This record gives sequence, structure tokens and C-alpha cells, in this order.
Amino acid sequence: MTHQIRPIDGNDLLKDVNCRINDLFAAGEDAKLLQCLDEETRRIKSAPTLDYAPVVHAHWDYYSGGIIRPHFRCSACSSPRYEHYAVNEFKYCPSCGARMDEEAR
Ligand SMILES: [Zn+2]
Repeated sequence: MTHQIRPIDGNDLLKDVNCRINDLFAAGEDAKLLQCLDEETRRIKSAPTLDYAPVVHAHWDYYSGGIIRPHFRCSACSSPRYEHYAVNEFKYCPSCGARMDEEAR
């Protein structure tokens, strides 16, 4: 599931807001202070958004066999992969999309 986020530089934004608020507060400009907060709120809301989905980290677990021939399984979705050469080449699980960068346990 994805949702949208706004990539903003929070440090720059806070610096701008603090400077403006301090100046207005020192000058006793309550109405302008509220206007400033309104402008900054609009500025945040007008920043572009990106679709965001949490990254699932996983690794390949090796199963030596039994009834089924030896294979690897994704630690996130348990999807089997029988191409042993391929598990080291997949950066993402072909079944669930998990990023295969987790240390095997
Ligand atoms: Zn998977």
C-alpha cells in the first residue's frame, strides 16, 4: 500500500519560520504572526508529493530438500526459488518485491 509524502527540507523550513516568527513577535505584530503561520502552512501543502511504500527487507533462506528438491525461500513471503544461481542476483524478490539486502540469520 502506498501513500503520498512531501519531500521537504525540514531544517530550512524551520529556520525560515523561526526567523519570521521572531521578527514579528519582537515587533508585536500578532496579526502578521498569524498570517506568517498561514503562509508557511500553505507553503508546506503546496510542496510536491511522492508516492511512498515502506521498504520490506528480506533474505533468502536455504532449504536442503526432503520431499522437494533443494531451494531458497524469501524470508518475507516464503516464495520458493529453484534457480540457485539466481538468488544471488535478485536484488528484489520476484514474488513480493522485498529488497533482498537483509543478513541471513
Ligand atoms: Zn518475497
